[in-house]
Amino acid sequence: EAITVGELAKRMGEKGADLVKELFNLDMMVTVNQTIDQDTAELLVEQFGHNIQKVSESDVDISAEEDVDPEETLQPRPPVVAVMGHVDHGKTSLLDALRKTNVTRGEAGGITQHIGAYQVTTKDKSKITFLDTPGHAAFSEMRARGANVTDIVVLVVAADDGIMPQTIEAINHAKAADVPIIVAINKIDKPEANPQNIRNRLLEHEVIVEEMSGDVQDVEVSAKEGTGLEDLIEKINLQAELMELKARPDRDAEATVVEAQLDKGRGPVATVLINRGTLKRGDTFVVGTQSGKVRALINDQGKQVKEAGPSVPVEVLGLSGVPSAGDMLTVVENEQRAREVAQYRQEKATEKRTALAPTSFDTMFNKSNVTEWPVVVKADVQGSVEAITSALHNLSNDDIKVRVLHAGVGAITETDVQLAAGSKAPIIGFNVRPNAKARELVKRDGVRMMYHDVIYHLTDEITGELLGVLGPLK
Ligand code: GDP
Repeated sequence: EAITVGELAKRMGEKGADLVKELFNLDMMVTVNQTIDQDTAELLVEQFGHNIQKVSESDVDISAEEDVDPEETLQPRPPVVAVMGHVDHGKTSLLDALRKTNVTRGEAGGITQHIGAYQVTTKDKSKITFLDTPGHAAFSEMRARGANVTDIVVLVVAADDGIMPQTIEAINHAKAADVPIIVAINKIDKPEANPQNIRNRLLEHEVIVEEMSGDVQDVEVSAKEGTGLEDLIEKINLQAELMELKARPDRDAEATVVEAQLDKGRGPVATVLINRGTLKRGDTFVVGTQSGKVRALINDQGKQVKEAGPSVPVEVLGLSGVPSAGDMLTVVENEQRAREVAQYRQEKATEKRTALAPTSFDTMFNKSNVTEWPVVVKADVQGSVEAITSALHNLSNDDIKVRVLHAGVGAITETDVQLAAGSKAPIIGFNVRPNAKARELVKRDGVRMMYHDVIYHLTDEITGELLGVLGPLK
């Protein structure tokens, strides 16, 4: 007997996203709409520490509400596009080039700044939102948390290279999420470019372009020389039209956190993408287990705005703490309500952690010969912390378990070094370095440091390391 994750979540009074995340931790990539078997369902119920009769918690936690906006209130909204592909195939270059096509660029005082997503206005006045975090980690992590913000994936493939491991990974992610792909064959300015070869090779991965009587659009571009960009934008718009993307603008906002960090001058800052409704200055909200009141909204041009509607990326100031990428921001009626819900979620998160400990997967199957590989993770933004933690988790198998002793945002501190030294663990610094005091300790205690700025490289190094400890991974 099978049940959808969404239905099970409803019966358990849990968030669908939490179940999806738990399943992800069990190495099962499913969405809320997919079905799971009875055994898995029972396991989940156990994991969450309650039985199936539990009543809905919607009266306590607003996120359990599943209200649907009436059809007549819906308005067209811009598509949200993620750019994916193999390392060095030109994702960053393409995102930069596309940003420059913005017709409203260069308005007075407008300096583009990186906030994790940006919006361009095209020649025909339509808008497109691009997630400005190239790579799969952000996409898969957000998806793992049940946040499906991406409408379209632009798959970048270098015409002088070919289909590479991360190209395939991107295809699989897009397919699993049921998100349509547009292939951007990049670097066609290179003399050795062979776009036809790319089209042929894509066939092997069931990505069939229109020219080969499939339904996937493809376009030849050069991010370097700016050719083919208009064409790409046109194709994105065409795809978006087919999808009839809509959201209700005139209601309290719901948004998804794309990126969040602790800013020295401004405190906790989160970039969110509005799913529906309009977020306004002064709005009171809950975001994950944090709450807050919108003190300022800053757009991708670095300008303060009064409000932001569906598909608009915007930086939010006025949070009580740093939320996680994929967290849902929900506007509530007042501060008391916000605090209540935030506190409730916090308690529930703690409860869940303690409740989970004795029935965690490892002890359940009574694995006695598991070797642990401890590690401390520090990164520049919360999104990376989570992406790395989940990537590390995926490297574990029956024989070896990557154990993240601590994972957090910010420079590597003395405490981190002490923690690592105590467990003979290395420290991963992802776009961060140790402060002066920590550096001394690192030297004194001989702690091993692993600095990286590409998750793919990081996991490669660790896979090698684990192979050394144990012999081949499964
Ligand atoms: P990413 O790792 O996918 O983000 O790739 P990057 O955008 O960093 O690009 C990798 C390298 O390819 C850089 O040296 C770019 O300058 C180069 N590159 C990107 N796009 C093009 C292109 O259209 N033509 C050529 N000739 N080089 C490109």
